[in-house]
Amino acid sequence: MATWRELTAELDAWHAAGAQAGLWWRDDDAATVTGALRRLVALGKRHGVPVALAVVPAKASADLAAFVSDLADVCVLQHGIRHRNHMIPAGKKIELGGTMPRQTILTELSRMKARLEAMFQSRFLSVLVPPWNRIDAGLLPALPGLGFTGLSTYGPRQEHAGRTGLTWVNTHADLIDWRAGRRFKGTEAALEELVAHLRAKRLGWVDAREPTGVMSHHLKHDDHCWAMLGELLERCTLHPAARWLATREVFALGAP
Ligand SMILES: [Zn+2]
Repeated sequence: MATWRELTAELDAWHAAGAQAGLWWRDDDAATVTGALRRLVALGKRHGVPVALAVVPAKASADLAAFVSDLADVCVLQHGIRHRNHMIPAGKKIELGGTMPRQTILTELSRMKARLEAMFQSRFLSVLVPPWNRIDAGLLPALPGLGFTGLSTYGPRQEHAGRTGLTWVNTHADLIDWRAGRRFKGTEAALEELVAHLRAKRLGWVDAREPTGVMSHHLKHDDHCWAMLGELLERCTLHPAARWLATREVFALGAP
């Protein structure tokens, strides 16, 4: 558990070391324009923080494309295919793997990538965000051939990230507790993950070049979650040792 005071102390430690922590914000599961999505985008705008929307391609609506086209600080990433679970029995939830044949997955990913490109045009970045942050490792070598340049899952990226031919930049602080009711996990639990990644980077325990990612799910936020997210955006905007990166920057600078 970590408090706001501990986040400030960690950023102060970065500042004392003459370093700046790059942060980025990914929000998952967008498909249509909802009140929650409008609220998310308004929050980013209020604080001047760019957001990357991981959009479910098969469910993406025309109104979402029209909505995003007006928003300079919003980029679209590809959130799998249709966000369907193909896990093997007793396995973990996965769409890009499990019981679905690899060739079928690759064909569908490519088809859906073309759909997002056509719908979102220059707002779309060819970055794959696997549903449940999980992907069959056997698929990775084929992704550059489909035109993907980036990948984003969860947790400090592993050493092999640099050998995939993709700019692999993850998220590290999840605002939602998926086991306990799929709701906000609480300010201190969410901050703990954020502070832990920042500290691990500062101390050289993990790849320090990987921007630290905050993962939100606008459809699951309650008022406490919205308030915490707003405060996080604001505090990190004001601290000299933190910098919110644009999504394009994340996948250009974050190369392993
Ligand atoms: Zn998702």
